[in-house]
Amino acid sequence: MNITQSERLFHKACNVMPGGVNSPVRAFQSVGGNPLFLKKGYGSRVWDVDENEYIDYVGSWGPLIFGHAHSQIVDALKRQVGLGTSYGAPTELEIELAEQVVSLVPSLEVVRMVNSGTEAVMSAIRLARGVTSRDIIVKFEGCYHGHVDSMLVKAGSGLASLGIPECPGIVEDLAKNTLTLPFNNVKKLRELFDVEGDNIAGIIVEPIGGNMGVVPPKSGFLEALREVTKKTGSILIFDEVMTGFRVALGGAQSLYNISPDLTCLGKVIGGGLPVGAYGGSKQLMDNISPMGSIYQAGTLSGNPLAMTAGIEMLKLLSAPSVYDNLEYKSEKLCAGYKLNVEKLGISACFNRVGSMFSMFFTDQDVVDFESAKSSNTKFFQSYFNALLEEGVYIAPSQFEAGFMSAVHTNEEIEQTIDANYKALQKAYS
Ligand SMILES: *Cc1c(COP(=O)(O)O)cnc(C)c1O
Repeated sequence: MNITQSERLFHKACNVMPGGVNSPVRAFQSVGGNPLFLKKGYGSRVWDVDENEYIDYVGSWGPLIFGHAHSQIVDALKRQVGLGTSYGAPTELEIELAEQVVSLVPSLEVVRMVNSGTEAVMSAIRLARGVTSRDIIVKFEGCYHGHVDSMLVKAGSGLASLGIPECPGIVEDLAKNTLTLPFNNVKKLRELFDVEGDNIAGIIVEPIGGNMGVVPPKSGFLEALREVTKKTGSILIFDEVMTGFRVALGGAQSLYNISPDLTCLGKVIGGGLPVGAYGGSKQLMDNISPMGSIYQAGTLSGNPLAMTAGIEMLKLLSAPSVYDNLEYKSEKLCAGYKLNVEKLGISACFNRVGSMFSMFFTDQDVVDFESAKSSNTKFFQSYFNALLEEGVYIAPSQFEAGFMSAVHTNEEIEQTIDANYKALQKAYS
């Protein structure tokens, strides 16, 4: 039997990289088979090394809200690259992106650029612990906050897909300072804060769960987080690495009208280049070095190429009706999926906020990690592989969000709905 180019490359990759990948979610472990090796992306499409073309709903796991190789971003990068790729000194580009970010995200006055979402979270947690002189951080089951040591506790998709209950190498003393609660559960939140509130440095939350599949906050949940943290002097951290500039220009905090103390950003803010950021009020952020004593640094932070891509991305997103358009198309796709599922008599739960969506193969409402895990992952595996054969590329896990981009066409959405029907039918038989 002939092997594909992807298979050939995967075998080579496995010799020099752990599992052949640089991020475990890229491996096809939970769906069987080998990952596709991609060589080109344009608009809403990607091409693999075997010349197969796919409609892409991964979008680099969220950043590419304007699709691949958008001309405005590519042209700006071409202009910048000839001027040097890194200086390690301040540039006007950093001011421009920071000004855009603080003007768009309601709770931000001051922002520090880093290189990934993980770094943003790590730094925000350090700041929360530093200013409160407390150790405990509260997180929610199924929320992922990057591979920060103290956050790799019940951390959702990547670990859930691979069936990793807990991560070796995390110092017990650190893990014990991370308390976890079920997402959307206000009762347990209040019980914990009644007892431990004065020892809690902060709460970190994905305001819309995105790493156990999409799980929107129930009405009152985010409000309760704001209330208990205010009362106990703990820091409320919104991890908007996925939701920032994705569900609205001002992120989930503008959608639900809640003002966190600190916000973490990533993904979309980099326009496809590695950028993360964290920020809050000037008063709080002035505790960061060089103003304050809480140290955080980065050789490539605020990198001119990365800033350039971010600036162009935010300009594109600031055009009129971008988000209305994303909403319309995402609703259309999910409505089509829903109809398919009903026609075939398959149980599924659909969760969507704006252009991030999930179809869970379960008959339960998915409101937290427990209910997400009731999904039939074996069925997902068959569905995923059948969908790939139909030319549609989604994340290889039941516990990941799908992402619509501004450049998907109505025709492509109809094509995807057809492909979804065929793939469901095939998985069902
Ligand atoms: C992706 C993600 C991260 C981690 O960002 P990286 O850039 O992969 O380090 C953190 N938090 C959330 C909510 C994410 O979706």
